[in-house]
Amino acid sequence: MGAMSEATSTTGPGALVLFSGGQDSTVCLAWALARYDRVETVGFDYGQRHSIELAARDAVRARIAAGFPDWAARLGPDQVLEMRGFGDVAASALTADRAIEMTAKGLPSTFVPGRNLAFLIYAAALADRRGLRHLVGGMCETDFSGYPDCRRDTLDAMQTAVNLGMAQDFVIETPLMWITKAQTWALAKGLGGEALVAAIVDDSHTCYLGDREHRHDWGYGCGTCPACELRARGYAEWAAEGRPARHP
Ligand code: ZN
Repeated sequence: MGAMSEATSTTGPGALVLFSGGQDSTVCLAWALARYDRVETVGFDYGQRHSIELAARDAVRARIAAGFPDWAARLGPDQVLEMRGFGDVAASALTADRAIEMTAKGLPSTFVPGRNLAFLIYAAALADRRGLRHLVGGMCETDFSGYPDCRRDTLDAMQTAVNLGMAQDFVIETPLMWITKAQTWALAKGLGGEALVAAIVDDSHTCYLGDREHRHDWGYGCGTCPACELRARGYAEWAAEGRPARHP
């Protein structure tokens, strides 16, 4: 797999992190900063209900720039790409006022068909312009959700299609693909210690309902939506294990 062949590379072409301001993409950002000399971030405004998610991106970036000098020197510009037209096409519980429920296909109604594929196309076009080779995303097969566009097989096909279609040599990196949510907390600690864990708790945002009022040991959120439940359960498991550090 392409990602494996890059395991020893710490210099050279930089990375573009698909960065939502959530826990997973924050860990991906730290992973990239620990690994590449030049790291930029991209976000997508596809008409999500909660501009809180976009605000969290700035908070997380500022926290990393202030608290991790080595990483601050590597952290390049951020861009938010406007994709509201896509959001209009792929209306779902995240973009319309629909309840979060399971659909007949066994997917949660929060699934936006093709969303991650569209993100990757836009990210690749931006990376091409910025001269960045590595596209880093928090896609994960061990999630409850089983989103088909987060599976590694899908991303391998996407990497091939993008490289053929853009005459490029991109590597789609997914450092969280095979780890649990508890292991994601451990990876955060391995990358940036308890300071990074605290940054994730304070500033990253995951809750589907956009709740920034209720503070828990794992961060802000309603505590009951699927995203909050997943984040809380992972944190509790990691805490029960004694807050181990996992090194990338
Ligand atoms: Zn929630």
